[in-house]
Amino acid sequence: TQRLAGRVAVITGGASGIGLATARRFAAEGAKVVIGDLDPTAGQAAAEEVGGLFVQVNVAEEDQVDALFATANDTYGSVDIAFNNAGISPADDDSIETTELPAWQKVQDVNLKSVYLCSRAALRYMVPQQRGSIINTASFVAVLGSATSQISYTASKGGVLAMTRELGVQFARQGIRVNALCPGPVNTPLLQELFAKDPERAQRRLVHIPVGRFAEPEELAAAVAFLASDDSSFMTGSTFLVDGGISSA
Ligand code: NAD
Repeated sequence: TQRLAGRVAVITGGASGIGLATARRFAAEGAKVVIGDLDPTAGQAAAEEVGGLFVQVNVAEEDQVDALFATANDTYGSVDIAFNNAGISPADDDSIETTELPAWQKVQDVNLKSVYLCSRAALRYMVPQQRGSIINTASFVAVLGSATSQISYTASKGGVLAMTRELGVQFARQGIRVNALCPGPVNTPLLQELFAKDPERAQRRLVHIPVGRFAEPEELAAAVAFLASDDSSFMTGSTFLVDGGISSA
């Protein structure tokens, strides 16, 4: 289907994992895709593959985020979809006893401040046209807790959920929807790196997933395409769990 025909979509973290799968899915559904990512090599390759544009950006930097959305608008004439998805997970122990303030701050900057900056930039283009869909990547841990003492990561994703609710309500009458994607564990480089350092963690995690496996990035991309499209026209401010049943177990 071409549910996103003619729509302009900005995807942060679009060079890898969930973002890359979503870039492919958006393009297949007819969108013009702008990938914003820290990684120029993978980002450029992804943009070429989907026939879109790559902008190198650190999502924690105000000027760079503003430039990303301005470039999308200048190149394609609007910003209709913002998938605020770039994020990091601390590879080392993230418990409150061991996490140092700089590490905590970096996670808040990349995972939470970025969603504020990207939403603000997207709204500059969406409010005048009274149309838009913003999707923020949180995590199932924002709803349930991580069960592995990830203090900075869980806090950042909880902030993303709260901000999504605020924005969803504030812009509901203006044709702009804001929803949060809450993935369960997804088979991406982010997860693979975590589990490479601690293989037992993968097994422990698997036990708690009713469907008995990790998600593939394409399964998240399908959910994001739904949230981006008019098929989800009555959804805003929502916490959209795509978690293999974890939250019900
Ligand atoms: P990934 O590591 O495969 O991809 C993340 C991308 O973000 C990379 O291309 C990376 O270069 C980019 N990035 C990192 N820091 C950046 C920055 N400061 N500025 C711009 N780009 C930056 O990760 P993924 O698993 O696809 O994760 C995507 C999102 O999904 C993240 O927000 C993550 O927290 C969330 N998430 C992932 C899982 C999972 O199990 N993989 C589960 C729940 C939520």
